[in-house]
Amino acid sequence: MKVNITYSCGHEGTIEVFGKAEERERKIKYFEEYGLCPDCYKEEKKGEEKAFAEKYGLPELQGSEKQISWAESIRKEKIEAFDKEKPAIRKGAGDDFAEFLNEFADKYYKNNSASWWIDHREWRTFKKDLLGKAVADFKAQDAR
Ligand SMILES: [Zn+2]
Repeated sequence: MKVNITYSCGHEGTIEVFGKAEERERKIKYFEEYGLCPDCYKEEKKGEEKAFAEKYGLPELQGSEKQISWAESIRKEKIEAFDKEKPAIRKGAGDDFAEFLNEFADKYYKNNSASWWIDHREWRTFKKDLLGKAVADFKAQDAR
């Protein structure tokens, strides 16, 4: 059933609740205490993405407003996911490559094209491209 509620941000909205009266009550209470309305939720996410970009020293993205907004969330997601993989990569490929990769990835993350990030939104595409380029550069450096 649909219920009108006041979110924790003070805005009103409608949510859909299912189940027993008890469960519905719990969900309503949760949304009223902690939930944000869709607009405030979007704002909050944007704020997180901005803070994230600052922390990593990422550039402002170029593209249409819609592309940028989409690409910013892709960028944050991909960088966080890749950082989580780093220990496994270090284990598999060794410290030398891991150190090289850290620096390489920092530069790689600085791509400021929104459409590029959208093109690389699939995890496998992103990881394959990043690792492929890093390995090629690493080998070229060895050859010198
Ligand atoms: Zn709100």
